[in-house]
Amino acid sequence: MGEKKGVLIVVSGFSGAGKGTLMKCLTEKYENYALSISATTRSPRPGEEEGREYFFRTTEEFEKMIAEDQLIEYARYVNNYYGTPKQYVLECLEKGKDVLLEIEIQGALKVKEKYPDALLLFVTPPDAGELKKRLVSRGTETAEVIASRLMRASEEAQGMDCYDYLVINDDLQACVEEVHRIIRSEHCRMGRNREFVVRIQSELEMNK
Ligand code: 5GP
Repeated sequence: MGEKKGVLIVVSGFSGAGKGTLMKCLTEKYENYALSISATTRSPRPGEEEGREYFFRTTEEFEKMIAEDQLIEYARYVNNYYGTPKQYVLECLEKGKDVLLEIEIQGALKVKEKYPDALLLFVTPPDAGELKKRLVSRGTETAEVIASRLMRASEEAQGMDCYDYLVINDDLQACVEEVHRIIRSEHCRMGRNREFVVRIQSELEMNK
């Protein structure tokens, strides 16, 4: 059987839901994942590195990427642009890697429109109080930015129904396993295995 294409996975969730840590653990624990690195116009947080967390770009550079059709999707989030570079994602999928996009909801919906096969996961903490606690204790954002992110979370909650799966991030390791299981099951979906189905059908036909 020929090499199968990977699954495109979109992971969204409120800011502070722990998506970043979840993605990191998943890619460290299992080999078959590739994590897409987005471009953004926001400034690096302390400890963030160019090309590791994001490709940090000026607004002008970002708009050039849009004009040159280098992005699968992009969106504005709390006064900055964020977008997914196309080339890396498509190359990894071709090689059979499962590609993780950690993006917000507008981008997620655009991805689903372009790639209906994409698997959309929504990650949330167990309750809103926990979300606020995590955002505050991260200590990397001003009170004003935290307030905007909480407001945005409330808007995003309205779109949760568009996602295929809900993942509650209470215990990190349990959450990593759950996401991994969901993705493994996606590989078994009949529609993703057309080549196999056609082959075995014709083999059985010949045996008649
Ligand atoms: P942060 O500034 O906390 O790193 O990210 C803010 C939001 O932007 C998060 O919800 C994150 O998932 C989202 N985001 C990161 N990269 C992209 C991207 O390439 N496209 C879109 N649409 N959203 C992104």
